[in-house]
Amino acid sequence: MRKKIVAGNWKMNLNLQEGVALAKEINEALVAEKPNCGVIICTPFIHLACVADVLDKNLVGLGAENCADKEKGAYTGEVSAEMVKSTGAQYVILGHSERRQYYKETPEILKEKVQLALKNGLKVIFCIGETLEEREANKQNEVVKAELEGSVFNLSEEEFKNIIIAYEPIWAIGTGKTATADQAEEIHAYIRSIVAEKYGNEVAQDTTILYGGSCKASNAPELFAKENIDGGLIGGASLKCADFKGIIDAWKK
Ligand code: PEP
Repeated sequence: MRKKIVAGNWKMNLNLQEGVALAKEINEALVAEKPNCGVIICTPFIHLACVADVLDKNLVGLGAENCADKEKGAYTGEVSAEMVKSTGAQYVILGHSERRQYYKETPEILKEKVQLALKNGLKVIFCIGETLEEREANKQNEVVKAELEGSVFNLSEEEFKNIIIAYEPIWAIGTGKTATADQAEEIHAYIRSIVAEKYGNEVAQDTTILYGGSCKASNAPELFAKENIDGGLIGGASLKCADFKGIIDAWKK
């Protein structure tokens, strides 16, 4: 059975003290009321080690939002997968559309990052998704297929089992526009079908595919009720404990 997951992506928000306080609050809320799904929070690098100290590892996973495409050495300002792992984090988000768009991360760069993350024992939340223009031209399926082929379909079956896919239509990220549950289900089912073509049905059935893009407590139940939507990657609504918990609770409905 594939895992149901709600993962937060804090992005470049919250200073260290604010981040640790939020992590403590989320942890306490989940200790008080056990979630019906896996919960992960992905934070800026500077938060990782301190946040790791306040989380109950059995209840809340921890991830970074990026890692370097090089193993180690003279790459000023970069943070390697090994460094991420050494903080206590177990996950890393790679391929987020903001990294692809603003930092020009190509499929080749992402392929390197994925390899290094897996080599260092991190699970990867790998983001894919189309622009509004691509959706309007009905190219969403080819876009997500190319993104998977470009960076993760080179992995062995064993390696691929450490990939969580996050489908995030770019036009829905931070815009307040959500894909309808039917739109999301249609492309999630397509993504699962191409994973099945590549790795077989058993692996595809075990692959967690998250939806991301203006997901909140009010629309999460409808999205998560769909067969191929296994949870969410949450940006804005992961920055307040009550909002994030509201989405986690969608798995109780
Ligand atoms: C994201 O960037 O991963 C995301 C889903 O953002 P938001 O929830 O704010 O749309």
